[in-house]
Amino acid sequence: MLIIMREHVSENCIDKVVEFIKSKGFEAHISQGELHTVIGAVGAKTIDPRNIELLDGVQEVIKITSGYKLTSRIFKEDDTIIEVNGIKFGGGNVGLIAGPCTIESYDQMDKTADELEKSNVKIMRGGAFKPRTSPYAFQGLGEEGLKIFRSVADNHGMAVTSEIMESSQIDMFEKYVDIFQIGARNMQNYNLLKDMGKVTKPVILKRGLSATFEELLLSAEYIVSSGNKNVILCERGIRTFEKYTRNTLDLSTIPVIKKLSHLPIITDPSHGTGLRDKVAPMSRASVAAGCDGLLIEVHYDADNAICDGAQSLYPEEYNMLYNDLKQIAPVVNKKIY
Ligand code: PEP
Ligand code: MN
Repeated sequence: MLIIMREHVSENCIDKVVEFIKSKGFEAHISQGELHTVIGAVGAKTIDPRNIELLDGVQEVIKITSGYKLTSRIFKEDDTIIEVNGIKFGGGNVGLIAGPCTIESYDQMDKTADELEKSNVKIMRGGAFKPRTSPYAFQGLGEEGLKIFRSVADNHGMAVTSEIMESSQIDMFEKYVDIFQIGARNMQNYNLLKDMGKVTKPVILKRGLSATFEELLLSAEYIVSSGNKNVILCERGIRTFEKYTRNTLDLSTIPVIKKLSHLPIITDPSHGTGLRDKVAPMSRASVAAGCDGLLIEVHYDADNAICDGAQSLYPEEYNMLYNDLKQIAPVVNKKIY
């Protein structure tokens, strides 16, 4: 249930409404818009909305039938803007994240970071724990990989994002990463999502292989309702009947999510297509469609990458793409750094 307060209502009125809904067993989440304060009453209880409408300062009570509330545009009208290392996602900003699929060695990360620096990359990606389809495939360097990553990123003035697979890794990840990544396969790992609500760093939440938009937003709702508002949603392609591309990158996600939610939505055209030559066109299309950021695989020696080389851009390609995106962004009123 969302309680829309009248314009410029007093703190006292807001406090009284919060007190009232808490006394009825709800949790209160406050969103301060430019004109209106919105109070989200979240809980398994039911209450006659008229009892709230009668309170001082209340303009309207909206019963939300969809399960997601705090992540919805109705709860918070303005875009959530998430800033990491000077790079912003949301609110007219397009944040770029680039790096290899997986951390292979110090040398590989260092050389890739050297290249990415030339294209102004400030947030680097790289997996240390890899959710591989086959148990026999390279599983990642683990904590050793995160150590390498942190040290390379620090030397290049970059922030770090890496995928976390389970809650027991949170304390370890806190030491190395600036953004937690929840992979597509873990989008509905509800215990992990709830635990991501307890961290303060931003979380990239990838859309599951067959997840609907509602399911994606409900997964984000787990994180936000558990206390972490800094969620970046990521479209990374869904599974369809098409076999030519690795996945089908669903670009309609961008306008759909932008309408339903205030959270930033980024795309991952690398996993979304699985083919290097499809990454730049789909990145350009993503920016044109209004995405808030991109997550792109780049490897200094993509032909010899241990993982996902075929979908990783060569650094020169990334640089050309970056220049294209800088031209496209202003056309759709967006800013790229
Ligand atoms: C990744 O980004 O490294 C990854 C494994 O992606 P996804 O979870 O989207 O498959
Ligand atoms: Mn990959």
